[in-house]
Amino acid sequence: MSLKCPKCGVELVGATRHRLPVHSCPSCKGLWLEHPELEELEDEAFDFGEHAKGTLVVSATPTPHPCPECGTPLQQFRYRFYELTMELCPQQHGYWLERDEDDRVLELMRKEEGQLQRKLVAEDQWARLLRHMHSRSFLSRLRDLFR
Ligand SMILES: [Zn+2]
Ligand SMILES: [Zn+2]
Repeated sequence: MSLKCPKCGVELVGATRHRLPVHSCPSCKGLWLEHPELEELEDEAFDFGEHAKGTLVVSATPTPHPCPECGTPLQQFRYRFYELTMELCPQQHGYWLERDEDDRVLELMRKEEGQLQRKLVAEDQWARLLRHMHSRSFLSRLRDLFR
């Protein structure tokens, strides 16, 4: 099945980014993070302090961009952590992440890594965040938000 970029309509190509299987747009370099193979991904704990308190997702707004899989308009949401902005298919087919956003958050993590001397390198941390966002609990929390 061929997937088209929600932004430019170009056919997406398979790639691996941060050890996650993704589809990327050869034109705008955006990333489509598909819905996880649910049984394969671990819903690992992700400790960012306030996370347990919830409400890390702020604002959800519709976009004109169609989901590559079902054509439903993607919903944009902002994740308070690093003010990350992503788009989500309300049918949970996956996330759309712009290339700039990916790089920007990674850059912020690198800065923090320098300041706090975190054990994890930024790339690992970012990969963990992406994996976390693929987790069932996170997806169901998002689904509740869009209801
Ligand atoms: Zn594109
Ligand atoms: Zn969809």
